[in-house]
Amino acid sequence: MAITVKEGSLEKPTRHALDWKSADFYDQESVNKELERVFDICHGCRRCVSLCTAFPTLFDLVDNSKTMEVDGVAKADFAQVVDQCYLCDMCYMTKCPYVPPHEWNIDFPHLMLRAKAVKFKKGEVKFRDKLLSNTDAMGKLASIPVVVQVVNAVNKMGVARSALDSVLGVHKDRVLPEYDSAKFRSTAKPNNSFAVRDGAQTPGKVALYSTCYVNYNEPGIGHDLLKILAHNEIPAKLVEKEVCCGMPKFELGDLEAVARNKAINIPVLAKLALDGYAILTAVPSCTLMYKQELPLMFPDDPDVKAVAEAMYDPFEYFVLRQKDGLLKTDFKQPLGKVSYHIPCHLRVQNMGQKTREMLEKIPDTKVTTVERCAGHDGTWGVKSEYYENSMKIGRPVFRQMNEPQPDYISSDCAIAGRHIQQGIHETNAQSKAEKQHSLTLLRIAYGL
Ligand code: SF4
Ligand code: SF4
Repeated sequence: MAITVKEGSLEKPTRHALDWKSADFYDQESVNKELERVFDICHGCRRCVSLCTAFPTLFDLVDNSKTMEVDGVAKADFAQVVDQCYLCDMCYMTKCPYVPPHEWNIDFPHLMLRAKAVKFKKGEVKFRDKLLSNTDAMGKLASIPVVVQVVNAVNKMGVARSALDSVLGVHKDRVLPEYDSAKFRSTAKPNNSFAVRDGAQTPGKVALYSTCYVNYNEPGIGHDLLKILAHNEIPAKLVEKEVCCGMPKFELGDLEAVARNKAINIPVLAKLALDGYAILTAVPSCTLMYKQELPLMFPDDPDVKAVAEAMYDPFEYFVLRQKDGLLKTDFKQPLGKVSYHIPCHLRVQNMGQKTREMLEKIPDTKVTTVERCAGHDGTWGVKSEYYENSMKIGRPVFRQMNEPQPDYISSDCAIAGRHIQQGIHETNAQSKAEKQHSLTLLRIAYGL
């Protein structure tokens, strides 16, 4: 390692596009070489040791090897590090001083993604992982009336959950989301009748990309968002046709499946973007998919770029809308003490703490903000082999969220919210805090 290399970079990080269509991207030897290079730098740096279990796994492998250097670790063991990464992006966005344009050119999450993609291409992926990443298909099936009752009942039955654990590898203690037969997209009543009032920073009309989670699991979050938009007289409609954004497939390394979903979603969304709509999604991982990952996978696609520019996190939109003088703040209901968690996939969107800003405008509301990974991360924390680590990573978050004895616990990520509620209940049965999504809190505050 050259000692003349400068520590960190003062320049703005520039993320390289993903070279996922080249043959070299999937070449195991080439990936191993890059893993070895990056792991060596990380071992000397160790800044990320507390972020997740990927880094401690790496450092243990190196420290326990014969040479106590990366060259002493068997290449086959590199996969142990890759498996512990759930692509939260925090190491790249908040810790690493060696990201491009630094000459060391470290993009740890995208290297993990590349290693996952190689694994997927070689067929080294469990049936369970493929199943869990099929959020659309699972949602369609599980939300059929009658089926929905069976699925929700089975998810709560100890015996059935033990079987699911041993046969499928879904941890028996993980609290799973329920499915709802009244799917959001079939029951939503968007109000498109208001006049369009464009602001300096915000388009005056909204198209809602509902997401698999809101559509099949918690339609209430989508209904709350529509109520808030209607209260503010912002015309809204649903995106005409949508499938999964592809994030669960991305996390699995199945980049061809991401491309297939992109080919369905992007033409519809691009038309809305070009027609001047703000496109809102209530799930930070889906927003990030459109804002960051698809543009890095398809850097030359103007439609992907147009969609990324039109895509907003709902609170990002509301705060900008208020700056435009076009958002009501006629709050009727104080919220008391709110413990609010910022999910990683929202933090890495680099737009500041917009949800906190908005909630703090509500009178008699004290917001405690917890800015730390809760450790669930999509389907990762559901899997039997990662469940314990997921709860371990979340423990400081559970404690900090419960400390103020809040009236509400909340997150912009509904999955993280449920995980935090489970963690708090497991460690502190005294908690009386109600779990509500941040959009639901805003709807309550408006008295809607
Ligand atoms: S992306 Fe997240 S989970 Fe993966 S190594 Fe970085 S901090 Fe850990
Ligand atoms: S990802 Fe960057 S900051 Fe983190 S351990 Fe590696 S070199 Fe250090």
